[in-house]
Amino acid sequence: MRDVRCDKCGKPAVTTFRTYRISLCEACYPRFYEALVRRSIKRHCILRENERVLIAVSGGKDSVALAHVLKKINDFNWSLEMLHINLGTGEYSDRAEKVVKELSEMIEMPLLTVNLADFGFTIKDARMRKRCAACGTAKRYIMNRTARMHGFDVVVTGHTSDDIAAFALKNIVGGNISWILKFKPRAESFAESVVTKARPLFERTEEENRLYVSAENLPLLEDRCPFAPHRDDWKDIVREIERRKTGFTQNFVRGIAKLASEASSEETIGERGVCGVCSVCGEVSSSDVCAFCKLRARIVRDAGGKMWRRMMP
Ligand code: SF4
Ligand code: ZN
Repeated sequence: MRDVRCDKCGKPAVTTFRTYRISLCEACYPRFYEALVRRSIKRHCILRENERVLIAVSGGKDSVALAHVLKKINDFNWSLEMLHINLGTGEYSDRAEKVVKELSEMIEMPLLTVNLADFGFTIKDARMRKRCAACGTAKRYIMNRTARMHGFDVVVTGHTSDDIAAFALKNIVGGNISWILKFKPRAESFAESVVTKARPLFERTEEENRLYVSAENLPLLEDRCPFAPHRDDWKDIVREIERRKTGFTQNFVRGIAKLASEASSEETIGERGVCGVCSVCGEVSSSDVCAFCKLRARIVRDAGGKMWRRMMP
């Protein structure tokens, strides 16, 4: 970035926020980023004072940035711990676990590690077309179960404005209106066994998180998951709109958050109405068997019964 100077200290800038019309150097950028995250959390009541917060950390830039920034801005007296889920994808998962352990030591934050294999299968075993959807089901299940079993008030994830805008656009185009409730920056628990979920980085972009991780010199998993799709057309579409219309992504996710909170009371009552218990594992479910147990049964069946079976940890 030639000839552009930091608007705060005059040193060479590493980035320009077109939305905020500000250029920043590597030293001033992290404080600006932290102030933005703190403002999101306060403005949208994403986390409350004194809460026990479990941070889901994969080792990628978004979750690494999330763990570090929450530690840095913790004037809310949160009790923070990290959760890493080892998905059992081979070397990739081993490296991810190593990165998260390194981060935990560096920022002195306790770490809980859960192995998907302890539930009877791994993501490698999920030989299905929609492997990422299966992975999402497994992660959501383990996050909720672990948070509840350890008495956390809320689970936070590193979802970015890019993730939310792409997913929302895809669902709007597909006519799936039920997506709306999934996009609240804070989704309150609607049953005793369901832990509140929150997304403190919902207004931040992947690029902002990447810069923060790099400026703070944090450990980072650089490799891509071996099962990651080669491209994400919806994210590309969002980036192209942003390129032509600065501020689109942020305004879009804020609009979605507003719509979601307006729609929430009615929908939540609906959710409570269909809230039951899985007959296999006892977790909350809208049908007799929850999505996770169905997934596990399918993977075990597809493996021809050769897989090991274990009890729930
Ligand atoms: Fe899971 Fe890998 Fe897909 Fe991410 S890319 S959802 S880690 S399978
Ligand atoms: Zn179940």
